[in-house]
Amino acid sequence: ELKDNTIIVVLGASGDLAKKKTLPALFGLYRQGFLPRDVKIVGYARTKMDRDEFHKRATSYIKNPDNDPEIATSIQHFKDLSTYISGSYEDGAAFDTLNEHLEEIESHYQSKECNRIFYFALPPSVFVPVAKNLKEHCYVTKGGVNRVIVEKPFGKDLGSARELLSSLKQYWTEDETFRIDHYLGKEMVKNLLVLRFANVALGAAWDKNSVSNVQITFKEPFGTEGRGGYFDEFGIIRDVLQNHLLQVLSVLAMERPVSFAAEDIRDEKVKVLRCIPPIERDDTLLGQYVAANGKPGYLDDETVPPTSSCPTFAATTLWIHNPRWEGVPFILKAGKALNEAKVEVRIQFKDVTQGIFKDIARNELVIRIQPSEAVYLKLNAKTPGLYTRAIPTEMDLTYKRRFTESRIPEAYEALILDALKGDHSNFVRHDELDVAWKIFTPILHWIDGQNGPRPRPVNYPYGSRGPKELEAFITKYGYKRSGEAYAWPVTNLA
Ligand code: NAP
Ligand code: NAP
Repeated sequence: ELKDNTIIVVLGASGDLAKKKTLPALFGLYRQGFLPRDVKIVGYARTKMDRDEFHKRATSYIKNPDNDPEIATSIQHFKDLSTYISGSYEDGAAFDTLNEHLEEIESHYQSKECNRIFYFALPPSVFVPVAKNLKEHCYVTKGGVNRVIVEKPFGKDLGSARELLSSLKQYWTEDETFRIDHYLGKEMVKNLLVLRFANVALGAAWDKNSVSNVQITFKEPFGTEGRGGYFDEFGIIRDVLQNHLLQVLSVLAMERPVSFAAEDIRDEKVKVLRCIPPIERDDTLLGQYVAANGKPGYLDDETVPPTSSCPTFAATTLWIHNPRWEGVPFILKAGKALNEAKVEVRIQFKDVTQGIFKDIARNELVIRIQPSEAVYLKLNAKTPGLYTRAIPTEMDLTYKRRFTESRIPEAYEALILDALKGDHSNFVRHDELDVAWKIFTPILHWIDGQNGPRPRPVNYPYGSRGPKELEAFITKYGYKRSGEAYAWPVTNLA
């Protein structure tokens, strides 16, 4: 349940994440009445700003296109409960000042029990000093709760992740720590649990007997566009596959948890991840985009080293050695500067027994995470008319058509609310992170050139579907495209 007398402190409040995600999500929750009654928000960062300047930044991504007076009033109320303190991340005395500010707010609360939630919207270089200073200078001991919410990157490989985690553990317990992977807050990722375990028809086909292959795909239609400095250090695998896509895979492939309780779910996720051996080089396709259609290539970005071999596209195939999934390839693929924006899961079923049919399309269950949430099952039906011929068609659940009155929450809204309630289900546990890094670290070290020459990614043109080698790669794992036979009526909503 939500606790009264709660202060949410956003550290790094001057930054990009705070402005674009954290503060708008807090506003969204506030407006819908999901924050504790007397909540207060405090921004903290080094930048010197007065309260007005902070308010301007904090609300700059909150939309009110039609100047709705009700939203305008909420924005004003939201400003009234938000304050800002500037100070360094390394200096204990600065955190004493922050603490005095928090105590001053709390002196107006009715009850003695106070709760503090610390949200790290910070670069990882200051995670440890901030964790230490908060624990030593801003930790309430009067019976309330203290929690920290942290974001990726959690290290760059297994060794550095373990080091970071153990440094943070000195100050904050696992129970107090909420590690965000915002994909776990997305509506369609949360929906996987319901689709799988609340439907006998789907659940029965969810294994190696029925499934041929699975693709989990992330496509972005833009490149680094001048923000390549950060990206080049990490690459697409650390940015998208090792965290977001692997999280989706674990929920998709895990066994049924005993209950919806956080530890029951996370136990099953860890169990299935432990069945996956490190990815092999042969199961990897790396790409880098080059200039095309008037758009610059990755190496044309001035913030990128001119000879960088950083992959901006990767496809990797994972194998799960357990009785449910033995032999089923799980292909994770992600790329920048591609032909479209989309994140989806595509489960392709096996061929139907031949004999009465020939060249008939396979069933596919597609769960589109974004844009425009949808679940559709591609299935064969008789062509209407006086003859018997099968045609690929679909059973379709498009959210905006089916649930016209519902608003799908932002992932950050869902997750911050969970953290306020103390529900860890949709946060990443330390052992999950450890096994995720074990799966990816060997190929990452190979790509980083730690044990030989760096592999050179293959080129693909900006705006294409990815490297031309992709089709052969996917086919190798048994994917069969229904191609021209399947058509989606253009008059339907996308
Ligand atoms: P950011 O804007 O670069 O940094 C946030 C704030 O931290 C800055 O406003 C700055 O505040 C302070 N800061 C920046 N560089 C610093 C340095 N070298 N040493 C000390 N302080 C520094 O980062 P962000 O984009 O908000 O991201 C914050 C965290 O969330 C990162 O770990 C990032 O990987 C993760 N993340 C971001 C996004 C996103 O959409 N941006 C999405 C997912 C995850 P002051 O100078 O005022 O102190
Ligand atoms: P699709 O866009 O035809 O993609 C199917 C698969 O084939 C994907 O794995 C895709 O790879 C691959 N592919 C796409 N173009 C290719 C090409 N030129 N060469 C080789 N492989 C290619 O998707 P679909 O599920 O069959 O649906 C067809 C269309 O109907 C889509 O536009 C879809 O949005 C629409 N539709 C919408 C709904 C709905 O909104 N509810 C329901 C059904 C269908 P990548 O993933 O790498 O691109």
